[in-house]
Amino acid sequence: MLVIRERTLLTREDKVEDSDTVEIRPVISGGQGRGRSRMKCRRCRQPAVIEVRRHNAAFCQPCFEHHFNEQVRRAVKEHAMFGPDDRIMVAVSGGKDSLALWHVLLGQGYSATGMYLGLGIGEYSDRSGEAARRFARDRGASLIEVDLRDAYGFDIPTAGRKGSRSTCSVCGLSKRYLFNRVALEAGFDVVATGHNLDDEAATLLGNTLRWQTEYIARQFPVLAAKEGMVKKVKPLYRLSERETAAYAFLQGIDYVVEECPLVEGNTQLKYKAAMNGLEAGAPGTKASFYFGYLDRAARLFRDDAAGSLTPCRRCGQPTTGHYCAFCRARAQVLGEPLAPPADDQVARELSDEVLPADVYTRTGGGGPGGGA
Ligand code: SF4
Ligand SMILES: [Zn+2]
Ligand SMILES: [Zn+2]
Repeated sequence: MLVIRERTLLTREDKVEDSDTVEIRPVISGGQGRGRSRMKCRRCRQPAVIEVRRHNAAFCQPCFEHHFNEQVRRAVKEHAMFGPDDRIMVAVSGGKDSLALWHVLLGQGYSATGMYLGLGIGEYSDRSGEAARRFARDRGASLIEVDLRDAYGFDIPTAGRKGSRSTCSVCGLSKRYLFNRVALEAGFDVVATGHNLDDEAATLLGNTLRWQTEYIARQFPVLAAKEGMVKKVKPLYRLSERETAAYAFLQGIDYVVEECPLVEGNTQLKYKAAMNGLEAGAPGTKASFYFGYLDRAARLFRDDAAGSLTPCRRCGQPTTGHYCAFCRARAQVLGEPLAPPADDQVARELSDEVLPADVYTRTGGGGPGGGA
């Protein structure tokens, strides 16, 4: 968590008076700094405002900003994420990570446009959209907005109730689909997302526990462009969630602090909690787990990356099947049939994609499971 008094971060050494108003701002992951006597900034020896145990270091505000910027520069350079002439689309949720990312990229002089996807999750989405708009307005930055209900006829809570997928699953695939589609249609070179070290370590843990090798193979800070897929990058992968929260706060970014109200079903939270338990006992575990994967294990999974992509028969976006996951989920939620499979062979392949039979029209030879 972050402990805030009048626009400053408090460390363990700071005394709080009865008359002080203190805000405790939750951060899902990251833990607290150690109770050292007189924490000093590693770079300049001034009093520190934040400790980063993983680096066994503490920083004053200017040096922490330097550290944050350096970690992003290093990530961008090491993985050749983008160059000064590239047009970057930043996937913005209104939360601390994506706004911190947008802020740092603008600060480093990149051409970075935000893209906000309205998920229709009640007041949470209203506040998130407002945070994204306010950020763009205050900095004179461009923001693209797409509203799921206006553009595609459904929102995430409805999809969670009506479809066969979990709410977070349909939410995640909708974001991936639309960020790619919008970036492609608007001619961006790359999509940047605010995934941090905690996100990546938790996802890797979940994928590893189930040996989902195809997902493990794709879990890299950069995914090259291919066949209708825009290049994707994660410039914050070297920074913990607590660091992004502290950076966003220290930069005066007005982000949405509250969690999504639908987060309960999000399995990634369980993996984050497990990783936090390990990290508390051995600081640096998350970093060595994820960075060790990048350095030593990622190449072993390359062959497991998804097969070749073909255009979705409904929307033209790339997919490994006949219809992309977004079109299938949307058809199911709206009760809108997709076109029937053309022949028996296709019908068999479609049923291998584990498609709900009621998504297909029954005319012209039937869908999977229809048969007659
Ligand atoms: S918690 Fe789930 S439903 Fe809420 S924004 Fe995240 S993925 Fe979407
Ligand atoms: Zn300093
Ligand atoms: Zn599609």
